[in-house]
Amino acid sequence: MCPGVLDRARHAVRGLAVAGAIALVGAPLPAQIVVSVCFDCDGDLTDSYGRPVHVTATTLSATRRAYIIEHIQANYDDAVGAGVVKIVEADLSASYEIIVSGGVGPPATPPRFPKTEIGNAGAPGLPALVYSGQFSFWANFFGDKFLNAIAITAAHELGHKLGGEHNTNSPHDKMSETITNDELQSGTIRFNEDDKLTFTDLLTLSSAEPQPVDDPGSLQVRVGSSETGSSDPTDPIRVVDYTLDVTASFIGPLGAAFGFLTTSGEFAPLGSISQVGTFVDAMSFYFDGGIDMAVRVGGTVFDLLGGSGTVALSDPSPLTPGVFRTATLSFATTAGPSELTLRVSDATDTGGFVAAVPEPATVALVLGGLLLLGPARVRRARRRGVAATTVA
Ligand SMILES: [Zn+2]
Repeated sequence: MCPGVLDRARHAVRGLAVAGAIALVGAPLPAQIVVSVCFDCDGDLTDSYGRPVHVTATTLSATRRAYIIEHIQANYDDAVGAGVVKIVEADLSASYEIIVSGGVGPPATPPRFPKTEIGNAGAPGLPALVYSGQFSFWANFFGDKFLNAIAITAAHELGHKLGGEHNTNSPHDKMSETITNDELQSGTIRFNEDDKLTFTDLLTLSSAEPQPVDDPGSLQVRVGSSETGSSDPTDPIRVVDYTLDVTASFIGPLGAAFGFLTTSGEFAPLGSISQVGTFVDAMSFYFDGGIDMAVRVGGTVFDLLGGSGTVALSDPSPLTPGVFRTATLSFATTAGPSELTLRVSDATDTGGFVAAVPEPATVALVLGGLLLLGPARVRRARRRGVAATTVA
């Protein structure tokens, strides 16, 4: 979450001990996780979208650094208990998990407001990034407001590393996809109860924010234009809402679940058949691009890119030839066939599914975002007329 986005970094950053960070992935449940925050890193990294990014040292004073550390600490004390996650300032000779850069981030992906990211969760095993320079651009982020924005962004990005995912809750909380500038500046929004459970459960710095893969052969999703935002092209709200609302119908063996594979190969469930019958629900796609949709039966996952599933598109959009409103995904599982049907349920102009050979322009859009299941009416739940910030 973040306006922009938080990108994860990769390293080559001075002093960045990649091996040390990676060693944390999948580690057995520790009694305490120590998370170090680097304010002096300067170097080139790769973010969660695989883009090269450059981070620069901040000029924050010792007092201001301590304030930020204390605030991130308070967020996690509240979420998982005092001291369970210990936030410290990095010793440059050691590894670190969060980099606060003095500069601004790369362009937001997909394009949205603000135009550059404020943070990124970082690749699995690599540091999360906070682009504090972005806040200096906004004249009203001064004093504690500036520091709170850094702290809340860092806490959010670290939340991804602990398994937290975005939500569209209203009122907003710390993992909300969209938060307001006031919320950034006040630093008062908290993790919700679900996030707390997730963090407590995992208590490992992992992987990650689910990211769809971008590959021909995956389900290619094209998100339509916003319908509910302002028609004024300079209104930031207009470019925040890129969602494709669909209904999902799933037929398959009892206990089967459908979802997608993250780039790290984890199955992220979206729905399952818990009783005889079919799963039918609404869900929203929040990204443009390809996704490796999958079905899990028992402990076995069958996915499109793995070749155990196929996609058939039908129901072309009258407004946009080449964009289809129905995608039928068939998986031949060892327990029998299963079929997932996704139908565009909203009158989106151009949203839908497209054939799986992305053009270069499409590829660029594909990389960001996530998929989330839930009440499809996320747009309507969003506040309007507020300078909203999309966090990555
Ligand atoms: Zn995020």
